[in-house]
This record gives sequence, structure tokens and C-alpha cells, in this order.
Amino acid sequence: MSINGTYDPDNIFAKILKGKMPCVKVFEDEYSLAFMDVFPQSRGHVLVIPKKEPARNLLDVSEDTLGHVMNTVQSITRAVNTALNPDGIVVTQFNGAPAGQTVFHLHFHIIPRYENATMKTHASGKMADMDELTALAARINSAL
Ligand code: AMP
Repeated sequence: MSINGTYDPDNIFAKILKGKMPCVKVFEDEYSLAFMDVFPQSRGHVLVIPKKEPARNLLDVSEDTLGHVMNTVQSITRAVNTALNPDGIVVTQFNGAPAGQTVFHLHFHIIPRYENATMKTHASGKMADMDELTALAARINSAL
């Protein structure tokens, strides 16, 4: 998928927003949804997506929605820091398949880094244990 194109309403994050696919939710408001990445690159990897716009990537989204979503990205990053006490936190976002994007609904990755743990490569991790993800989501949510 190129950086340009049309939004696929059947992409996996659109299905999550419509309730057709489950997710391990961390936080939700009018504009954004934060949930655990099921193939985490490290412990506590969270994704934040816009709810209101069919934006494939950063180029598509309105400034208004982006502002709200970025507020959520900052809140979740702070909560991850408080809840999990990592040594660093990476925030990333990919536009188009050649850049590494695999799901074509705009999303931001919040990836804690721990000094003694190697971060897994993007889109290569194995599926996480759902009970562990649920417990991590609760810890992060309680730090909001
Ligand atoms: P990207 O490659 O930047 O498009 O990121 C997509 C991310 O979504 C990857 O980190 C995947 O591990 C993650 N992912 C894919 N399917 C799901 C799902 N059903 N629930 C949560 N995360 C997912």
C-alpha cells in the first residue's frame, strides 16, 4: 500500500472500532482509542488511533483530530512511564508500506524501552499472552 490511496473500511483497526474485532483497551474518549499491541515489540507496547476519521496515515488526518489524538498519545506515554517505569519510551508512526506500515488506519506506537531488554523488530513479534496484556492495560489505565 502506497502512502497515497483510499481508506479500506475493513482494515483491522476499523473492525476494532466497529466492535467486530476484540482489543485490550487502555483508554478511550470521543476522539481516540488506546489499546495494547498484540504483537508487542516490548512489554507495555500501546497503540493510539483516531476514532472519528477514516485516515490511513498522518497525511490524511485533520489538524483538529490530530491534536486530540496527540493529547492522548502524550497522556498514554506519561501513564506508561508512571505504571511501568521503563528506561525510555519510543513513539513511532509509519506512513505507507515502504516505510513499514502494515495496518492502514493511522496509529501511533508507544513502546517502552528497558535497558536490559532488546526491543523486538517492528511487525515481527509473537502474539502476547492476553492475560498479561489485560493486566498491563489495567496498570497503564490506573496511572492516567
Ligand atoms: P504498523 O506496522 O505501524 O502499521 O503497525 C501495526 C501494528 O498493529 C503492529 O505493531 C501489529 O503488531 C499491531 N496489530 C496488528 N493487529 C492487531 C490487533 N488485532 N490488535 C492489536 N494490535 C495489532
